[in-house]
Amino acid sequence: MLDTPIEYLKGVGPQRGEVLKKELGIFFFKDLLYHFPFRYVDRSEYDKVVEIPDKEGAVNLRGTLSSIKESGVGRGKRLTARFSDGTGYIELVWFKGANWVKPKLNTEATFVVYGRASKYGAKWNMAHPEIEVSENFNEGRRIQPVYPSGEKLSAKGLNSKGIEKLIGNLLEQVEGKIPENLDEVILQRNHLLRINQAMKQIHQPESLETAEKARLRFKFEELFFLQLEMNFRKTTIQQKHKGFVFEKVGDHFTHFYEKELPFELTNAQKRVIREIRKDLGSGIQMNRLLQGDVGCGKTLVGLLVMLLAVDNGFQACMVAPTEILATQHFQTISEFLEQLDVKVALLTGSTKTAERRALHQQLEEGSLDILIGTHAVFEDKVKFKNLGLAIIDEQHRFGVAQRSKLWKKNKTLPHILVMTATPIPRTLAMTFYGDLEVSVIDELPPGRKPVQTFHYFEKSRLKVFGFIEKEIAKGRQVYIVYPLIEESEKLDYKNLQEGFEAVERYFPKPNYQVSIVHGKMKNADKDYEMNRFVEGKTHIMVATTVIEVGVNVPNASVMIIESAEKFGLSQLHQLRGRVGRGAEESYCILMTGNKISKDAEVRLETMCRTNDGFEIAEVDLKLRGPGDIMGTKQSGLLNLKIADLVKDNQIIALARVEAQEILKEDSGLDLAKHQIVKKELNQILRSRPNWGIIS
Ligand code: ADP
Ligand code: MG
Repeated sequence: MLDTPIEYLKGVGPQRGEVLKKELGIFFFKDLLYHFPFRYVDRSEYDKVVEIPDKEGAVNLRGTLSSIKESGVGRGKRLTARFSDGTGYIELVWFKGANWVKPKLNTEATFVVYGRASKYGAKWNMAHPEIEVSENFNEGRRIQPVYPSGEKLSAKGLNSKGIEKLIGNLLEQVEGKIPENLDEVILQRNHLLRINQAMKQIHQPESLETAEKARLRFKFEELFFLQLEMNFRKTTIQQKHKGFVFEKVGDHFTHFYEKELPFELTNAQKRVIREIRKDLGSGIQMNRLLQGDVGCGKTLVGLLVMLLAVDNGFQACMVAPTEILATQHFQTISEFLEQLDVKVALLTGSTKTAERRALHQQLEEGSLDILIGTHAVFEDKVKFKNLGLAIIDEQHRFGVAQRSKLWKKNKTLPHILVMTATPIPRTLAMTFYGDLEVSVIDELPPGRKPVQTFHYFEKSRLKVFGFIEKEIAKGRQVYIVYPLIEESEKLDYKNLQEGFEAVERYFPKPNYQVSIVHGKMKNADKDYEMNRFVEGKTHIMVATTVIEVGVNVPNASVMIIESAEKFGLSQLHQLRGRVGRGAEESYCILMTGNKISKDAEVRLETMCRTNDGFEIAEVDLKLRGPGDIMGTKQSGLLNLKIADLVKDNQIIALARVEAQEILKEDSGLDLAKHQIVKKELNQILRSRPNWGIIS
């Protein structure tokens, strides 16, 4: 019955069915049942008319009517009634629907009235109140649900009240007949309401407490199935996809590790490499996420893992989100590998056709060992002889769809290592990456000093310039970064240009050299300026966020971020990560105008307080919500109906344990007692056809 198309419900029909589908995604009875109220109005207590001036929002009154009158004509027509509860009186007014309301009103009965009162001259009145004869005001239904609706729905009579009515009809039909989808054991262990009771109490609660209990049950249900789905995917991927076995640690790896590596690996780097090696030897295809704050040394870990692939006769690739970053990886890695007989090449959007052709051929022949590049690597034309490992750097910029293209490059899937410098809050990682293994580098190389961060207003600009002057005198270099926001691109470039001129005035040639880099420059010019800065030929780099990811200039010790209030937290953190890479004390200065929003204030305060990427990520999650952070708004994965990934983290933890327990005992969900949850899970899996097999 729950799978009955919505138009067959009493009170719906084809037209309303159409808007319900379009606006709310409600196709079947079941979808409507799971269209939950987003809040409740508590009408179990009555307010008094005398208290109205002190109340905010709607009031709930009980009293009698007098002088019920219609006045005016046409559009000016209105219905009024004087309402009194013994403590005072207000006027009730209807501008619309008078013909329909008037017959319901009389001067004998006691009425219950609900609405927002407003002051009109010296008098209080209430327009279009909800009104009901007190006797009919259902004793048991005084906690009233408020449902998400919208203009198009309201136009078809489906405002919150209209939806409430439909759900009432539906509940009558299905009362006691909704099949339970959670295990009895789980229900009991977590003290959850059974589905029929919960469904009744979430829509027609007896009290706010029972409503809360019902909400808890559905939050748990939602999170449990999300966890089950993720963990189920993980186990099935592991069973289905055999992986290449990288069994030996060969000459390249050993030689590099013993002879070329210029420093000792941190303990965290060593641990992560052990974790990865275990995967690579297991015979199961690896899907691992490597998290680590900016500057913790992920690239090197990536390189060592690629050498393992090469040692075992495979090719490897590393993909970065921007050309600058890919180029830098290529340079770093080529330098590291100078003494080794490993062939490395770079492929980006600006690789020349002839060179590209040669590359394609070498890849197919297998004479090229390591390919570093941008998303150009994903193009269908790029074929490998035997790609054994793909590393994706700064993952958050790649869509799921792009990543899944990698899978087509081989019959056997390559091992996949996703690296991200944007730490992902634990709750999100547990949910979103429930199907990936996670490694964390939680340690920076020794000798790094935490970057000191300060917030200054525009009026302190000269002071800030004075500070820059001193740092340059010590031989340091400085970044000054301007925001670039698409809607106001022109204005932003103007700001950048003016900023550049101001900097050149304060820091004149020939004593000072200033570079400028932005997205509208030709690549060759950009590279030229970038290189001058890298080589220490210019003192100041004025730039937009094109320098955001990955760029490595250890001598740069000051990062000035202009209009810092316009940047998001993770971006600020990324930018700050460009300094503090050498042994010198480094500084990040956040410049803002005088007016900043509350959220911006929190961001600035957070940046000044901590360098800990995970802590910053938690704050970011609270400010922005999960969909924005993971860039998954469209994928639907995190469009949760009732649970909140930030606030409900305790429920997430419980649900996760339950899901893991079940799969540990019965990975295919074959046991009789798991058929209930299996049925639900199958429905969920079917509803996500486009969601790739990777993460
Ligand atoms: P990220 O994790 O942000 O990608 P990188 O891989 O760019 O960081 O590393 C930042 C810098 O730290 C590089 O210059 C790298 O050579 C250096 N580095 C990496 N590992 C170590 C280590 N164990 N000891 C000292 N320096 C290291
Ligand atoms: Mg990096």
